[in-house]
Amino acid sequence: MKENRISILGSTGSIGTQALKVCEALGLTPAALTAYHSAAALERQARRWRPAYAACVDEAAARDLKVRLHDTDIRVGGGEEALCEAASMEGCAVLNAVVGMAGLPATLRALEAGHTVALANKETLVAAGELVMRTAEEHRAALLPVDSEHSAIFQCLQGNDKKALRRILLTASGGPFYGRSREELRNVTPADALCHPNWTMGAKITIDSATLMNKGLEFIEAMWLFGVSPEQIEVLVHRQSVVHSAVEYGDGSVIAQLGVPDMALPIQYALTYPERAATGLVQAVDLFSVGTLTFAPPDEETFGCLGLAKAAAARGGLAPCVLNAANEAAVALFLLEKIGILDIEALVAAALENVPAGSYSALSEVLETERAARDFVQSYAEKGGFLRS
Ligand code: MG
Repeated sequence: MKENRISILGSTGSIGTQALKVCEALGLTPAALTAYHSAAALERQARRWRPAYAACVDEAAARDLKVRLHDTDIRVGGGEEALCEAASMEGCAVLNAVVGMAGLPATLRALEAGHTVALANKETLVAAGELVMRTAEEHRAALLPVDSEHSAIFQCLQGNDKKALRRILLTASGGPFYGRSREELRNVTPADALCHPNWTMGAKITIDSATLMNKGLEFIEAMWLFGVSPEQIEVLVHRQSVVHSAVEYGDGSVIAQLGVPDMALPIQYALTYPERAATGLVQAVDLFSVGTLTFAPPDEETFGCLGLAKAAAARGGLAPCVLNAANEAAVALFLLEKIGILDIEALVAAALENVPAGSYSALSEVLETERAARDFVQSYAEKGGFLRS
């Protein structure tokens, strides 16, 4: 990274808190910290790290934060614009760890400012990959993956000719419901889904892992980051979560990246790239204790979200935006226990059939489509009898 200061968007979340530990180990100074509404947690981080700027997206939380930090010289911001302000601070790299499409305008603003962006906000690329990649190119800004699979792929591509890449082998843990039938999934609760076997993560991504939508979003994310077609990506279920993904070259070589399932490693690689730092934060994987590595094709009959994502990827245009926004809305309903987990797939499929999703060129079209897909899911869930009382 060319910058030595960093803005962390979503600093109180799972990735954000781990990123602060990585920053500490690397001696990187956070210049801005933002949260959605966790004012108390953000206050603690701000007092510890003394960033120049701290902000909550939620306006009420921002007012609370302002009171909490009144005795400091930290500038406090609020509202959606605050994310963009944190993203464009002078001389700062940006780690975008916001959950969901809310992170998109800030990603674009950071790239427009020519900043290096370490991207943990995969929804940004799913919803508007074409626009994000074009903006990065126009402003010669580096976009570095933080998602563990994409970090693995990125690492496997180092030192090799991109033209020799034949396929990407994207690994999936299979999630907490691996091996179950649709009948067995019908009545699972958010609490069941939030028990992931290998990774500790935020609620939204854990539900996405349980439905395999996470792998679908990552499929689209990989297309944009590495410039490959849907046919060039194979998803493999790998229960041990040791191989974080692999690439296959034209000469028949497959190169994989292995490690323990700990997000500190991909976060650190994004922040030190192209260097590697021996911070001691992550132990190397012990292959003797792992013993066996297994790989199997995903069960797309049971977990239909992956197939929906592949279909949206093939359609292109705004179809992935509809897929992502509909999924965000449906996951929110599931977390409130208003719908079952299988309804997520049904609602996303209905949104893809009904919400217009042609080609686009501007951010405003992406945001309009996002709103339309969310509204569609809400009203379709109500009218279609999906809602549980
Ligand atoms: Mg991932």
